[in-house]
Amino acid sequence: MGISNFGMSSYADIVGRLRASFDAGKTRSLEFRLAQIQSLGKLLEENKAAINEALLQDLNKPAFETELSEISLVNTDVNLALNNLKTWMKDEYVEKNWATTFDSAFIRKDPFGVVLIIGAWNYPVNLLLIPLVGAIAAGNCAILKPSELSKSTEKLLSDLLPRYLDQECFAVVCGGPQDTTQLLENKFDYIFFTGSPNVGKIIMTAAAKQLTPVTLELGGKNPCFVDDGCDFKSTANRLAWSRFYNAGQTCVAPDYVLCTQEMREKLVPALKETLEEFYGKDPQQSPDFGRIVNDRHFQRVKALLGSGTVAIGGQSDEKTKYIAPTVLVDVTESDPVMQEEIFGPVLPIFTVKSLDEAIAFINRHERPLAIYAFSPDGKVVDAVLARTSSGGFCGNDGMMHMSVPTLPFGGIGNSGMGVYHGKFSYDTFSHHRGVLLRSTGMEKLNTLRYPPYAQRNIGWLISATETKRKGMCNIL
Ligand code: NAD
Repeated sequence: MGISNFGMSSYADIVGRLRASFDAGKTRSLEFRLAQIQSLGKLLEENKAAINEALLQDLNKPAFETELSEISLVNTDVNLALNNLKTWMKDEYVEKNWATTFDSAFIRKDPFGVVLIIGAWNYPVNLLLIPLVGAIAAGNCAILKPSELSKSTEKLLSDLLPRYLDQECFAVVCGGPQDTTQLLENKFDYIFFTGSPNVGKIIMTAAAKQLTPVTLELGGKNPCFVDDGCDFKSTANRLAWSRFYNAGQTCVAPDYVLCTQEMREKLVPALKETLEEFYGKDPQQSPDFGRIVNDRHFQRVKALLGSGTVAIGGQSDEKTKYIAPTVLVDVTESDPVMQEEIFGPVLPIFTVKSLDEAIAFINRHERPLAIYAFSPDGKVVDAVLARTSSGGFCGNDGMMHMSVPTLPFGGIGNSGMGVYHGKFSYDTFSHHRGVLLRSTGMEKLNTLRYPPYAQRNIGWLISATETKRKGMCNIL
């Protein structure tokens, strides 16, 4: 069994303990939720240095990247919840039909109960704590399972969270696949999973046994179309930033470029120049470039360097798990680098003859988490948006749609199901309970629907309950 912050207690004990708190109504009040979210904010504020250090250990993540994508993004969700939770929690009154004119019809946002949040290693703070804000905001108890691969962050979070959150309602469970398999034998009321599509299927299968609803935040290959008319230097800057941030280990990073041969001739030198501006002549010496998380992933990404021809980079160092920011050209559709999610600092450029060919290429593959299109011509960006399908979309940049918390974030098809961030997290972790509170009087009107049925009443009943097309008369 993996370590937990509850000593030797079994997973069933932990789930039972949290369920007892949930059943006792401990997590329901606005005050409790706000206090826990505020405390989470305090955790981030008071432990910035320790978080930076843990991520440096795990991924050689530059403090700049940690502050931006691990701390600040969580802070945004903390603050959004603190600013808006009272409004989010309000019952939402809805339009009624004639039959219920004198009654109250509303949506009550109920917590699910005890939820399980399983995180991935590439943004190990962000991917655990952003969903947690939503789970707390919605009034749930939660068990958190950080990735065992980002070891220092796993240890830090399992030390810190119990010090800042109510231990009767929130728990951290550490461990790998075997431990998680055991954990999943327990009944949860919701499972929020971030990870690979393959493990996503395992999680969904385990959830199905208990009919537990899931959100799956998965990965895949995110295409990036670069149109001929693009300013190649600013395109190269934006592309390189989003591809090589966190050494390419980002679920929404552009995975490959689709462009014409002519654009490729301009883009490759521009990318070379950009990479030198970003990381100097030897990126291995740059304090601003991360490392691969472990040996297995290092070997996996290194093997992908054999696809096509190396146009930029290509160096690696096994000891420090360094892979240089690399651009590959002359790749074919069947090359390994075009088959699996790269999840490393490698950018293949696949040449196409036209926008139509690029769209056809995208649509022959699994639906990705994000699609990017660069063009000064809005019609081209619109065409990619209109004729493809993906979790999210960003025109003329990479990854930046993620920074807008009023946009839902999530995948579709092979890249997942369900959305979160900001209010979407609150909604994800809330059961939207449809409620009708009827008045007790006017029983005479109800007799119209009771047996023995009288055919003459059917018209009145339908008129009182059926929704009509706009502009149609609602009276018989
Ligand atoms: P992973 O699927 O290997 O692991 C994710 C989590 O599942 C970890 O906590 C791990 O311990 C657990 N796990 C692994 N095998 C398991 C098993 N057999 N049974 C039960 N639990 C198991 O993914 P990863 O390597 O940590 O992360 C990389 C993947 O995650 C990439 O595909 C990436 O695109 C995706 N990702 C998606 C998002 C998103 O928001 N959509 C964000 C980050 C990463």
